[in-house]
Amino acid sequence: LGACVNPSPGVAARAFLSRPHLLFIGGRFVASATGRTFATVDPSTGERLAQVAHAGPEDVEAAVAAARTALEGAWGALPAAERGRLITRLADLVERNAEELAELESLDVGKPIAKTRALDVPAAAAQFRYFGGWPTKIEGETIPVAVPDTLCYTRKEPVGVCAQIVPWNFPLLMAAWKLGAALAAGCTVVLKPAEQTPLTTLRLAELIAEAGFPEGTVNVLTGDGPTGAALVDHPGIDKIAFTGSTAVGREIGAKAGARLKRVTLELGGKSPNIVLPDADIEAAISGAAEGIFFNTGQACNAASRLYVHRDVFDDVVEGVLARARRARVGPALDPATEYGPLVSAEQYRRVRGYLLDGVSEGAVLRAGEVPAADPGGGYFVRPALFTNVTPTMRICREEIFGPVLVAAPFETVDEVVRLANDTEYGLAAGVWTRSLSAAHGLAARLKAGSVYLNSWAPGDPASPFGGLKASGVGREMGRAGLDAYLELKTVWTSIAP
Ligand code: NAD
Repeated sequence: LGACVNPSPGVAARAFLSRPHLLFIGGRFVASATGRTFATVDPSTGERLAQVAHAGPEDVEAAVAAARTALEGAWGALPAAERGRLITRLADLVERNAEELAELESLDVGKPIAKTRALDVPAAAAQFRYFGGWPTKIEGETIPVAVPDTLCYTRKEPVGVCAQIVPWNFPLLMAAWKLGAALAAGCTVVLKPAEQTPLTTLRLAELIAEAGFPEGTVNVLTGDGPTGAALVDHPGIDKIAFTGSTAVGREIGAKAGARLKRVTLELGGKSPNIVLPDADIEAAISGAAEGIFFNTGQACNAASRLYVHRDVFDDVVEGVLARARRARVGPALDPATEYGPLVSAEQYRRVRGYLLDGVSEGAVLRAGEVPAADPGGGYFVRPALFTNVTPTMRICREEIFGPVLVAAPFETVDEVVRLANDTEYGLAAGVWTRSLSAAHGLAARLKAGSVYLNSWAPGDPASPFGGLKASGVGREMGRAGLDAYLELKTVWTSIAP
């Protein structure tokens, strides 16, 4: 696509961009202790959007201390109903500032404005609204123990101070998933957005201050991998919640294991999407295309492997090819854009590397192209589809995190179950069929945290999400997501007369 112009955002987003972008610690916006900053870039143009404070170990120290003080002080003392009221007020503020948040998210991530308006921002508000209802429903139980004259009951208590580390593909929404559950449980938080996309989290920090949360309840440290590592290493952290690459997830899991810290990890995927011969073919084609090309393929649950029954393989592939070829790829703030750029020059090079790899391993690139080595003005990669793939190719095994689909035919259900489950990952899987028994039979046999039958990746704050195998540990959203921020305490009481 080459260099392109991104339309200007509105007044509110421009005003935000012109303010300093500081750390949020103990209820105040402050420069980093060293005064260091880093640039965040518009991936539609490659131009700098803003300069942002870079948190180091001293800032981590201050943020963890502020979170501890809030936990043991004003936030910890709030009645559950009041906690819920504040979270709900944050949902209201996200909705009231929706257009500004959508524009900032589009600028910083390269997401099409039509999607940030329709999905990212409303879904973030919905998380806060859902979790705002939980604090008054967190109940223990009385246990009918056999010990005479004894009252035994459980209490659910907040885990404590949580480190939350968020990636760049859904910055506002991932922050909302993590914050909603932690705050509902009564935890305090030090949140680190990804270095590529800090802006909406900083705007959210302003809204958290405006909502009236006690100071230190939520702290935001902008910075990079070493900032995240300093946070994970801090002994004052009780729980770590991480979403991002499997490599960093393994490292964080090992550290959490060594220190016996609570941990939830939401990592990569290589999710299979299966089309049986009796499927509604048009629906399967759109599910297959949108399943991988949505967010320019930068979704942990992207439908990156397409398995189609041999009888309908050519029809489905032709349908996906047609969609890939007519996809409107463009700058994020253009309302006509369907697919924006990749988030960064680094991600562009990574995805380009996989496209080169696929071609050199002998797969046939039927749509899309290997983009130029130098991205020029913006990090655009067109939707791509490979056929003639074999299961051992890197493009079939590794998470690409770009708009690159591999498609292969199959003949029997047993064969496709074997192919689908032949991966280190286990995040999501899809099945397209009109047969109830085939659909639910496969749902039971596919090793994935979420299975989508005749759809791809609907979501709801009430419904848990997470991975099996190398796709992660634990669940986010729903009751399971809340439980990940609660400790269970058993209380034994003698009531002997
Ligand atoms: P990453 O895992 O390096 O970064 C994710 C977050 O972790 C960022 O906030 C980053 O600053 C932080 N981080 C990095 N190193 C850390 C460390 N050692 N300790 C603590 N925090 C650390 O991901 P990336 O390099 O930006 O992307 C690489 C690949 O990861 C992508 O190509 C994609 O395959 C995958 N990814 C997956 C998801 C997902 O939703 N599961 C999201 C983003 C990226």
